[in-house]
Amino acid sequence: MKVVIIGGGFAGMNLAKKLAGNKAIEVTLVDRNNYNFFPPLLYQVSTSFIEASNISYPYRKMFQHKANLRFFYGTLLNIDHKSKIIHTDDGDLSFDYLVLAMGTQTNYFGMQNVQKYSLPMKTIDDALNLRNHLLLNMETLIRTNSDAERQKRKVIVIAGGGPTGVEVAGMIAEMSKHILTKDYPELNSPKASIYLIDAGEALLGPMSKKSQKEAYTVLEKLGVKIKLKTAVKDFVDGKVILSTGETILTNTLIWASGVIACEAPGLPSTSITKGRRILVDEFNKVQGTDSVFAIGDQSYQTADKDYPNGHPQLAQVAIQQGIHLARNLERIRTQKPPVAFKYNNKGSMAIIAKFRAVVDLPKKGFFSGFFAWLIWLFIHIIPIAGYRNKVKLAFNWFWSFITNDPTLRLIIRPAKKEKLLPAEHVAEAIPEKAPGKVQEKISG
Ligand SMILES: Cc1cc2nc3c(=O)[nH]c(=O)nc-3n(C[C@H](O)[C@H](O)[C@H](O)COP(=O)(O)OP(=O)(O)OC[C@H]3O[C@@H](n4cnc5c(N)ncnc54)[C@H](O)[C@@H]3O)c2cc1C
Repeated sequence: MKVVIIGGGFAGMNLAKKLAGNKAIEVTLVDRNNYNFFPPLLYQVSTSFIEASNISYPYRKMFQHKANLRFFYGTLLNIDHKSKIIHTDDGDLSFDYLVLAMGTQTNYFGMQNVQKYSLPMKTIDDALNLRNHLLLNMETLIRTNSDAERQKRKVIVIAGGGPTGVEVAGMIAEMSKHILTKDYPELNSPKASIYLIDAGEALLGPMSKKSQKEAYTVLEKLGVKIKLKTAVKDFVDGKVILSTGETILTNTLIWASGVIACEAPGLPSTSITKGRRILVDEFNKVQGTDSVFAIGDQSYQTADKDYPNGHPQLAQVAIQQGIHLARNLERIRTQKPPVAFKYNNKGSMAIIAKFRAVVDLPKKGFFSGFFAWLIWLFIHIIPIAGYRNKVKLAFNWFWSFITNDPTLRLIIRPAKKEKLLPAEHVAEAIPEKAPGKVQEKISG
């Protein structure tokens, strides 16, 4: 049986791992990146706390010695579900069963300036881009003679008060407190002004009231200015424009405000629902198809009676759906009836500051503080791919938390090459065996 999985995040990777070693099933995992990564810790990469390599791992290394797993580096372009073929930017693949596990992408809600100028937090590239931006911003800040420019560069606006926005706000506030004075002695008052904006009535929207209150209190104490029931409407000429009519001068808008499912072109339009999620039945089979499944953030299942409005877009749902589908594919192969998916909620958690986290347990349990923070660290280290990564991450955390001074504040950018000359000019400019003349000719 030929199974093609598109997307190697929590859902796709758990499905592939569970099928590893099943000689009767040949699995091809397609991904636009050649590595799996761990989104819940992206904010620590973007704030120079840990390295990108601590939370990412190459698929080919994962698949070593797994005879029935193959990796295909490519981006899905179109699905022909009737002919059982997918088209990618690097060729076509045929399948008996196709599994869509492409997750979500940043949603800018149609605001073009926000899309163009804000800094999203969805991928490793985004996190490294944000890290560079924050560090470059400080280098410009200390050099500028303009008071207005200096003020503007000290302000950081974070849109989205969910776990990502709260975590990044807490981390930047801690950095501003502990690191800026040491790194930038040129500044008299280097503390950043951090705004956290959310359209909802509380921070950490899907969590318990106790978690929401704790996050608010702790962030406020750290100096974060929280604006609830307020939406970002535009980001133009270095000004964030809010729904209240207020504007904030800044050149840093971090966008942690919304997601939309990745596109799956070729599926029947009736199978696409709100947030572009794909409608699936109780076995995660896409409505209107015979052999296509969707799992994780990208899927929308209403058959689970505790979640009639679809499951939350969380790692645990994606992991459980991946593992469950692996069992069902084996049942389908051996002509047994598949079993309906049921989500087992294990609770949710978020870090709100150094040594402080909030944890909601199923059935209304709640705890917070240092113990919650330790549990958060433990839970987040387990799913990180690779033993070396786990050890490196634990050491990095230990070191950074006790010294208050991680050493990863590096501005690393891809090299900018000189503009290449058109081919005919190059031939003319670089006579064979005359390397000494090259520079002269080109500059001439
Ligand atoms: C910053 C951040 C913090 C988060 N924190 C938490 C948290 O603390 N707890 C929690 O439970 N959840 C958290 N989440 C949500 C969690 O990460 C998602 O619910 C989970 O990743 C969903 O898994 P998935 O497999 O469906 O999709 P993903 O993990 O997003 O994986 C999708 C994969 O598909 C690939 N892909 C996408 N499009 C294509 C294409 N066209 N062709 C080929 N490959 C493609 C991508 O490269 C990626 O590898 C967080 C998310 C973010 C962004």
